[in-house]
Amino acid sequence: MTFPTEAKAREFLALAPSGAVVVPTTHGYFALTSEREAAKPPKRCSICEQQFREYPNNARPINDGKCCAYCDDYVVTPTRIELAEFQRESPGVLTQEQTAAAEALDSLYAKYGCGADGMWAFEPKASHEDLEEAYRLRAIVWRKQAPRMTAMLIRADGTEVEITPKAKKFSLEELQALVGGYIEAVPHVPGGLDADDDMICNEEGKLRGMPLNRKASMLAAQLIVGDVVILKRGKW
Ligand SMILES: [Zn+2]
Repeated sequence: MTFPTEAKAREFLALAPSGAVVVPTTHGYFALTSEREAAKPPKRCSICEQQFREYPNNARPINDGKCCAYCDDYVVTPTRIELAEFQRESPGVLTQEQTAAAEALDSLYAKYGCGADGMWAFEPKASHEDLEEAYRLRAIVWRKQAPRMTAMLIRADGTEVEITPKAKKFSLEELQALVGGYIEAVPHVPGGLDADDDMICNEEGKLRGMPLNRKASMLAAQLIVGDVVILKRGKW
């Protein structure tokens, strides 16, 4: 949890366990942490890449690193909420096999009392075996045939446009214009894109608060924001 001013942080210090201190964190904000944590060498946030001294936070689903309190408040938490809503809304468009998998996944979450919060609450509590099963089921729930066309722009609002490169392949500039900034290839995960499909997204999309792209998230089996391009390997 972060505070916009040091004075605000000090008000909360009274409620914190003894040994807590106020430290400046990233983006001009302040956080509470233990004296012991504050005495350690600064850590580097895996999201904003700035240094911080408070307890590190789990940065998933943005990335697998540890993030600062500011990014936890303003990037990770809103993303988790949006993704949980997305997962709850999905069943309406699922096939029979996917619906069965979604139900099995729900009972697995319920076993750990995480019915409403889904994967993010379940992951830290579940046994290794149940976690494996949950990942397998989630891959089935999220599976969807990727488009077979040469290239497609999938906008965050759900509209799709078939696109063709000016030359034989898409240039870096063309792709940057399509996703609105620096480009990043989405990593392939089980249940996601076909082996010969690549998805190009905006590298800073999550940091810049771009809207969730539900179609792209379904295709890639992971959280994707902003407009994306799907194209065949070798076409860029
Ligand atoms: Zn950060």
